[in-house]
Amino acid sequence: MENTKYDVIIGLEIHIQSNTQSKMFCTCPTHYFEKEPNTHVCPVCLGLPGALPIPNKRAIELCILLGLATNCDIEKEIHFDRKHYFYPDLPKGYQISQYKRPICSDGHIEIKDKDGKKYEIGIERIHQEEDVAKSTHHTEGSTEYSLIDYNKSGVPLIEIVSKPNIRSAYQAKEYASKIRQIVRYLNISDADMEKGQMRCEPNISIQEKGKWQLVDGKIFPIGDYILNPKSEVKNIGSISAVEKAIEYELNRMISEIEDGKTLIQQTRGWDANKGKTIFQRSKETADDYRYMPEPDIPVIEIGSEDIERISSELVELPNEKKDRYQKTYSLSDYDCEVLTANLSISNYFEELLPILSKNMDTVKAAKSASNWITGTLFSIANDKKIDINQDNIPKESLAYLIIEFEKKVLTKNKAEAILKESLEQKKDLKKLIEKATQESTQNTKNLDSIIDDVINTNSKAVTDFKSGKQSTIGFLVGQVMQKSNGSADPNKARLLLIEKLNG
Ligand SMILES: [Zn+2]
Repeated sequence: MENTKYDVIIGLEIHIQSNTQSKMFCTCPTHYFEKEPNTHVCPVCLGLPGALPIPNKRAIELCILLGLATNCDIEKEIHFDRKHYFYPDLPKGYQISQYKRPICSDGHIEIKDKDGKKYEIGIERIHQEEDVAKSTHHTEGSTEYSLIDYNKSGVPLIEIVSKPNIRSAYQAKEYASKIRQIVRYLNISDADMEKGQMRCEPNISIQEKGKWQLVDGKIFPIGDYILNPKSEVKNIGSISAVEKAIEYELNRMISEIEDGKTLIQQTRGWDANKGKTIFQRSKETADDYRYMPEPDIPVIEIGSEDIERISSELVELPNEKKDRYQKTYSLSDYDCEVLTANLSISNYFEELLPILSKNMDTVKAAKSASNWITGTLFSIANDKKIDINQDNIPKESLAYLIIEFEKKVLTKNKAEAILKESLEQKKDLKKLIEKATQESTQNTKNLDSIIDDVINTNSKAVTDFKSGKQSTIGFLVGQVMQKSNGSADPNKARLLLIEKLNG
């Protein structure tokens, strides 16, 4: 949205379920997806009186790891707090979270803006908490009822709160996507939004240009300007919906102001089918969660040796990897973006390269590998929902295919058809290539002898051609086609003929 009158102010809250084996404060297993309801529970995650929480060390490590990857300061002491509110999905009546002292604070990540320029988005805090249960609402006849499944209750949840320096729906989408990429690279979470492993909630407001300022990460009015209230959008089910929901909300706010209406602070839900946000409730006052220190969990100290150990899990992150690809392989910005989008693809690419490099220089190998992976392979794999990995497409075989293509033994069409046949019918790629190259070599041999034959039996046309009558080549190609019963490649035949006649 381009608007000359208003500035857009967006802050994004992202929740990520960490992929630990057990829950945040008990030993119940976390993998509850599609499991029988209320089978992964114990007195702790059911919130029964007297049950004591024991923090999950691995979950805290993963939270610190994310903080390190996003340039945050890491707390030396970990404090948990109780955040009180009443809802059936929270059986204790409070959630164990962190209030004043989040594990990580004051970080940032870099995204690429719509104009291609780099843009830095600040991270206010990253803290550790526990997930709540899942409630579903049903109607049978005239009876309405709700069911609760506590399998999700107590799953480790990392909350990442951005600073309000996101200035467009596009930036918000890029930021969410970059966070998802980072947690996947570090194996902190699969961050599958459809499964609820990642949730995004934007806070959105528009303010008149020049009438507000940012002080310590908070927005204040200048002079007697009254700030427009913000709206918060929930139930966003995909990264692309983050952008759509914000766009919708910005347009809604502007048209309400232009219609002379007064905006109210509110929570809205994203309706993906209708493509619009729906009013849920107004927020007249700030929530009072009556935070208090969690008395059942002692303060946990984090030493420099802990940070060092956790740091060893850091890997080359997507932005760094992309820069390296650009520098080392001279690949386009787009190619680098696609190849680094997920770690398994970039690993596949990097393992394919040395095999190819035995036959061509590295830059050419990289360009060729990138073209085949992001082009043909992606389109077949997406179409057939096949993962690109060693089991499905052995790298040695793909390299063999690319080399035969580069040597012009196989045409692009033939090579693509082989790849497709191998993936779709689960046939051995190497055997298919061997068969195709043999055929191709045999065809070339056959073509060679047919051409010799045509040259020997058409001496007039040959003499005409040699004396400068170029047009007779068409006649000779026609003869080759006839003798091969139409199976020869006319272009190849023409080239070979000219080569032999001039030789
Ligand atoms: Zn439990």
